Amino acid sequence: MEKQISLAVKCPECHRSLMDSHVKLHNLPAIRADIEIAGERGIIHLCPVYGCYERKANIPLPDRISAKFFCPECHKSLISDKFCPECSAKMVGFDIEGGGVIIFCSRVGCKEHDLLFENPSEAGKYLHDDTGYFN
Ligand SMILES: [Zn+2]
Ligand SMILES: [Zn+2]
Ligand SMILES: [Zn+2]
Repeated sequence: MEKQISLAVKCPECHRSLMDSHVKLHNLPAIRADIEIAGERGIIHLCPVYGCYERKANIPLPDRISAKFFCPECHKSLISDKFCPECSAKMVGFDIEGGGVIIFCSRVGCKEHDLLFENPSEAGKYLHDDTGYFN
């Protein structure tokens, strides 16, 4: 099995952690965000493993609809200024603890996602950090 990278992320606005130790996916604390989709508001939990699309939500997630994401702490929007290269929906952005940003498409069913680092040495630091990002 390939090595998996699990991400610990925080809100880009208030810098509070988005990890929810009460809800686990893949046995790891899940990423929690508030969402609004098709006029309903709810809570979503995303798997912290990079490239894994497991998720749990307390409202229906209609396929091909774009969701709005909000920080559960400061309630600011987590939608970034980037557009998905696949489907042109807005992309959601979380700051990664230790540096960098993960962005992913806000449209249900679109798997476009990317890791962004401001400089390559940051990526090196992150990948060699032994605080548990590499499992
Ligand atoms: Zn997973
Ligand atoms: Zn926040
Ligand atoms: Zn997309």
